[in-house]
Amino acid sequence: MSQSPSNTNVVSCNAGCNKDFSIKQLNTSRMEDSIDRVWFSCGHCEAEYTAYYTNPEIRDLQKKISYYVSRKKDVSHLQKELSEKMNLLESRFKDNAK
Ligand SMILES: [Zn+2]
Repeated sequence: MSQSPSNTNVVSCNAGCNKDFSIKQLNTSRMEDSIDRVWFSCGHCEAEYTAYYTNPEIRDLQKKISYYVSRKKDVSHLQKELSEKMNLLESRFKDNAK
């Protein structure tokens, strides 16, 4: 999956038909350990791509961030924490795929 720099919602279907498509809808599938896989599929060929993974800790952080954002508070430290946790979780699945 590669992202076009002009529009972050448009991606190339490089695991499928190689056409560009826009992400219309994110789907969520529950996995083990209360982990959710958030994914989308190509509108042309229905190839599936994982957007990101979340666990209860990450979902709590996401809620916290949207709460603070709605109150115009600074969330940069929370967003940093969130991306670190998401990277950690993602690497766990990448390791399993080997
Ligand atoms: Zn496709």
